[in-house]
Amino acid sequence: MLHPSLSGARACVFDAGGTLVHPDWPRLAGFAADEAGREFDAGELERALKETLKAVGAEMQREGYVTPLEHRRPHWVFRRMYGSLGLDEGACGRVIERAAAAHAERHLWCGLDPEVPRVLDELKRAGLLVAVISNTEDGRLTDSLGAARITESFDLLIDSHLVGCRKPDAKIFHLALERLGVEAHEAAYVGDSYAHDALAARAVGMRPVLLDPLDLHPESVCPRIHSLAELVGGSA
Ligand SMILES: [Mg+2]
Repeated sequence: MLHPSLSGARACVFDAGGTLVHPDWPRLAGFAADEAGREFDAGELERALKETLKAVGAEMQREGYVTPLEHRRPHWVFRRMYGSLGLDEGACGRVIERAAAAHAERHLWCGLDPEVPRVLDELKRAGLLVAVISNTEDGRLTDSLGAARITESFDLLIDSHLVGCRKPDAKIFHLALERLGVEAHEAAYVGDSYAHDALAARAVGMRPVLLDPLDLHPESVCPRIHSLAELVGGSA
């Protein structure tokens, strides 16, 4: 049985990073070990990243959702994440340089959530269109999904860098809805950022679903799930 947010919907649109695909944590941990002598495991990095996104969301909420210039810097979210773990600016700079070089070789967001293929299959079998809207700094959304081998599953991919607008701007959601040929109220939007995904999709009249695996957003006014399987009736 589909999640109540998908009842009668015609499309399910996803965020990519942190929702469908995840960072390559072993590589990111390796950069911190090599360049800053700090050991982190995947769980620590993931929590730091999600908490960073939460803090960024709160900042944006205060600033009226103007995208700060910082967000146009490559790997800004990892820079903030390493900073939140106590790496100083010099160490962050070195780590990000390593990350950038590694990313040029293989996309850093290439870890597929193992539930994704089954979830997409079931949504399509239920007759829904499936799509992605992703904020990228380099136009490489298809690289990220390609590394995870799921590009072909989608009816539509929107990469912010290629279309010239970013979430939480309503324009990027309207563009997706227009290309899918569905009304806002007929489409769910599933993402892990409260500000960029859930509240932004809600503001354009879509059906927001916040993916909140670590329970960081009890204040959410949008429905929350802990795992993507909950979209198709599985439990967290
Ligand atoms: Mg995300």
